[in-house]
Amino acid sequence: MGKPDKYEILQDLMRRRGFAWGSFEIYGGARGFYDYGPLGATIKRKIERKIREAFQREGFFELETPDITPEKVFIASGHVEKFVDPLVECKKCGARFRADHIVEEALGIDTEGMSAEHLTELIREHDIRCPECGGELSDVWYFNLMFETKIGPYGDQKGYLRPETAQGIFVNFRRLNAFARNKLPFGVFQIGKAYRNEISPRQGMLRLREFTQAEAEIFFNPKETEHPHFDEVKDEVLRLYPIENQLKNLGMIEITAEDAVKKGYVLNTFFAYYMVMVKRTLLDIGIPEKAIRFRQQLPEERAHYSSDTWDVEIHSERFGWVECVGIAYRGDYDLSKHMKMSGADLTVLIHYDEPKIVRRLKVSLNMKKVGPKLKKDAKRINELIQGWDEEKLRNLVDVLERDGRITIEGYELEKDDFIIREVEEKITGEKIVPHVLEPSFGIDRPFYLLLENSLVIEEDRTYLRLKKDMAPIEVAVLPLVAKEPLKSIAYDVFRTLQKAGFIAVYDEKDTVGRRYMRYDEIGTPYCVTVDNQTPEDNTVTIRDRDTREQMRVKIEELPEKLRELIFGE
Ligand SMILES: [Zn+2]
Repeated sequence: MGKPDKYEILQDLMRRRGFAWGSFEIYGGARGFYDYGPLGATIKRKIERKIREAFQREGFFELETPDITPEKVFIASGHVEKFVDPLVECKKCGARFRADHIVEEALGIDTEGMSAEHLTELIREHDIRCPECGGELSDVWYFNLMFETKIGPYGDQKGYLRPETAQGIFVNFRRLNAFARNKLPFGVFQIGKAYRNEISPRQGMLRLREFTQAEAEIFFNPKETEHPHFDEVKDEVLRLYPIENQLKNLGMIEITAEDAVKKGYVLNTFFAYYMVMVKRTLLDIGIPEKAIRFRQQLPEERAHYSSDTWDVEIHSERFGWVECVGIAYRGDYDLSKHMKMSGADLTVLIHYDEPKIVRRLKVSLNMKKVGPKLKKDAKRINELIQGWDEEKLRNLVDVLERDGRITIEGYELEKDDFIIREVEEKITGEKIVPHVLEPSFGIDRPFYLLLENSLVIEEDRTYLRLKKDMAPIEVAVLPLVAKEPLKSIAYDVFRTLQKAGFIAVYDEKDTVGRRYMRYDEIGTPYCVTVDNQTPEDNTVTIRDRDTREQMRVKIEELPEKLRELIFGE
């Protein structure tokens, strides 16, 4: 027998012990959907809680908006037009595939960013055929990944299941800005479901059609990109894989957040600050540091709204580096689009510390002089000029200085026909469209990769070495044997721990050795055993999952001791 396949072992453990499995099992399953069992759902909530706490520590506000969204929102956001994958169909068996994947697999080349036409050409040129039946493939076309739905009984309004939670935040910007009292920067986050109708999802939990995201949108003034708390994180070492290193096969670099900004790998301290925040959150969840890296997306990989994105990838033995978090610089893309589509004012008024004095040109027609020449058009042309912006007025003055004359609306006018003045104006602030930085966590992928990175296979046991506070069952209380008075004492201890806030179970079935293995397997960090010494001196043993060592503790000190061991409090 070869080395056991970690992936298969983990899949079996996840199904058997109630973590997660493919949905709709009894009806043959449905690709791209996963159910979380009792233990899995508990871990998932703990991951969400850690991310929520991380966002809250930054002072971000939480928001909850609908999954179903009217079409207009995604026309504005660009998803209707651009959230597409290239699709190809087998003319013989009708199977459909991601065209880029088919070409990648057949030719071993990188197809990122290739157009549908280019992919079609390659398929024809190399006679690439259906991987299922060898049949001829169709031309490549674009398939929109959003799930469509109809809103209302007459289906007169088209809607989509949201492909990201972010848009719910952007469309609420006016209210959120008022809530933030018009003061940048501020962050808003949402944890919820998102949906992508993937063409042929494989890779289990790594590519789901319905998944959970935790996205924060941080709105900031593009002129103020120094993070006020950067000093707190500047020495954190980040493992980066920048674009240049990817293109030149230079490998990854390890660099402090401060140097990453100084050497130009990362845009500014604002961006770097949140990279550190994401890394620390993943560590807090229990992802090992060696399994975390930041990879800068190549220009052709980036989503349509982003001008720079770093993916935070977690390493998988089976799948290699897997994108789990994206930190995207979205600029003013979304707010500007929604402003244009909806007509709503999504700007923020930035007050200057002190009013600014600016010099402005004031240009008007010398009515006495032009009146006879322009007649009834004089007033209209004068108003037209009043509406011009500074740049256009400067240009007018430049032309008059150079040529002595200018033609407006068919009338030739001379320098003397204008009254040109320069005036000083006091300005107290300006309206800007804020820029957005978005740390966006997937939840399902980190969930799977947390389990994979925690799985330990030893000679006599296989177990999840989960970070202790992430365990779905935090403590198991076991009578050494299922006899009185041990049973009653153990049950009382169990109830005490439950009431103290622990996720605890009571278990008296099988030998104590088998029970230890049972709880090790699901990652329970401590088993508390009531043995024959307990009735004599009110002590129990605490057994450590990782070292298998035991210590004796007084029952009354148990909750405090466990809190310290599990949560480090
Ligand atoms: Zn086929």
